[in-house]
This record gives sequence, C-alpha cells and structure tokens, in this order.
Amino acid sequence: MVTQPLHLSWFNPVHITFGANCFADIASQLGNTQPVLVLADRAALSFTAETALGDALGDQCKAWAWFQGGLATVAQARELCEQLWPTMQQHPEAVVLAIGGGTTLDLAKVIRYRTEMQGIHLAAATIAHWRTNTLSDRFHRHPLWLVPTTAGTGSEVTRWATVWDTDARVHAKLSWAPAKGFAERAFVDPQLTLTCPVRITRDCALDTLAHALESIWNQHTNAATAMLAVQAARLVISALPSALKMPHNLEARADLSRASLMAGLAMSQTQTALAHALSYDLTLRDGLPHGEACAVWLPMVWELSLGSSPVCDETLAKVFDLPATSGVHALRNWLERLGVSTRELRNDNAGLATLKVEMQSARGRNFIARQD
Ligand SMILES: [Zn+2]
Repeated sequence: MVTQPLHLSWFNPVHITFGANCFADIASQLGNTQPVLVLADRAALSFTAETALGDALGDQCKAWAWFQGGLATVAQARELCEQLWPTMQQHPEAVVLAIGGGTTLDLAKVIRYRTEMQGIHLAAATIAHWRTNTLSDRFHRHPLWLVPTTAGTGSEVTRWATVWDTDARVHAKLSWAPAKGFAERAFVDPQLTLTCPVRITRDCALDTLAHALESIWNQHTNAATAMLAVQAARLVISALPSALKMPHNLEARADLSRASLMAGLAMSQTQTALAHALSYDLTLRDGLPHGEACAVWLPMVWELSLGSSPVCDETLAKVFDLPATSGVHALRNWLERLGVSTRELRNDNAGLATLKVEMQSARGRNFIARQD
C-alpha cells in the first residue's frame, strides 16, 4: 500500500468552550477581580440573560455598550470606541466580552485594539489605520472573549473582522486582520440561538455551509480543514430544515452551532474563496444578507471547481454521499427548497467578465480552480 503524504498545518489559539448553558458560567471563568466591558447585541440578548450576567459580574463590569443592529460600519466602530475607550484606558487589563452575531463580534475585534484618546473624539488617524489594516504604534490590545448568539459566522474562532466603509465615496469592504487578532476565549452556547428568528437562522446557516464548502475548494485546504468542513456541511444540510420547522429544537440548534464552529475553524486556516468574493457586491448593493449572498453562488462555484483536484472532488463527494458531479445538483435542489434562488454568471459576456475579475480578487485567488 502506498502511503499518501499528509498535508496538515494548523494554528488557532482560541480556547473554546462548547455546550448548552456554558454562557451561564462566564462570570466564574473571569474570576473575582478581572474587570470586564460588555458589548452586546440588544436584539440577541434577552432581558433575563442580561440581568443574570449583570448580577454575576457586579462591580467587575466597568462599562456596557449595546450594538443596535445594522452592518458593522466604520461609523459604528467609531461610535463604540468613543463610548468604550475612555473606560478601557482606565482599565488597561479589562477583558472585552462581546455577545451577539458575527457583526457584534467583528466590531469587538476592532474595539479591542485601543489607541490612546486625548479627548472624547477618536482621531482620524485611527480610522486611517482601520482602512489600511495597520496598527498605530500606540495601540493597546485588550483580551477578547466572544459569545456568538447566532450559528453561522464562525467569527469567534477567526482572527479577522469585516467592516463596511460606507463613509468613503465609494463604499468598500474592509477586512480588519491584525496578526494577533484571535480572541482568547470563545463560548459557544446553542441555548442562546433558540430565540434567533427563522430568517436569520437560515441565512447564518447558509453562511456556515459557504464557509465549509469554500474551505474545501480552496488553495489552502488540508487534511484537518477538509475533515471539519465535510462534517460541518453535512450537519447544516441535515439540521437546518429541522431547525426552521422547529426553532425551539435544541438538538437541531446544537447541530447548527457545532457546524458553525467547525466551519469557522476550517475557514480560520484557509480563508474563504470565490463565492464570498462574489457575495460582497450583493450585500453592499442589494442589501442581501451575507449568508444568502454567498449561497446563491455555491452551486456555480462547486461546478467550476470540478476536476481541479482529485482530493477536492473526493472531499466534495462526501458532502451528499454522491459523486462530486452529482453533488452540485443535490446542492442546488437543497438550496431551492429553502427558498434560495441560485445564480449563474456563465450565460453571457458581462457575467463571464465579472467572474474573471472576482477570480483575481483577494478571496477569489484562494479558489482552487485554474485562474487563466
Ligand atoms: Zn461568510
């Protein structure tokens, strides 16, 4: 028997705690003296959970800010920094505890890199650093603990954050990705996702599926990421229809949380690829939710990947237990049953030109298919 070389590399320092009710244990994990600042999504945290956390933290909680919804924009980040940084300056050892969907967690990844503030307003230089993905030489990195309340983005285990620059003349997507951008801890509690509305549940799970598949048809795929990605994709495909029919089914919710975490871990090593590259325009221009904006491209991108690598084809075959060529039809049918209208760019010259441009973009270059 010929031994195949094992391609495996891994770096992810996030200490992960997974399980129903692990959120309730956070205060005890902080100890009795650790100061903490909370950034929470108002729509995602129930009053009961808010009160329980506030009581458990007591005086250790030095500030509490709410994310009120919308995209993670430069303006939102600026406002939250102006609100939280003065207190963070007084408590340089304070943990930033973020509780919410991917947007809240992404904003926390920006906020935890604090620069000294002279007045109440944040200096334009800080925003310039966000725009160029650089750090000021006077930054202070706060510890970061992340608690997702949706199952989908995997943001709790990746080191980068998406921030939309809607202040600029031409709206742009910024990818904030400092070298030590990983959180110290992530608490993934499926119980927190039970109240997530059905539409958001669907879109977040579609994002998980996109992360899983994009880490398979990826130049940086390896044995560990492929194993996680296949399991994540299979879990979403089996659990999402049940979670949509029975939103309070903890078992289906736990499967989606597990899938999101596994796909996030895979993506933390590979980054995303062509479907994500194509999605950003749909989100920025048409306001399509991120998960759906990725999912509409998945069958086309799956088909484009076919034949690029035998390992990729074999891995994709495990997603539906079908040859990779048949899997693309199974995926299209599954998505359309969930109300997702899949899209195609290969029918006209304008579409083909868009495809060519996006293949050369930062995410598009991660795609496994030949780019000539
Ligand atoms: Zn995504």
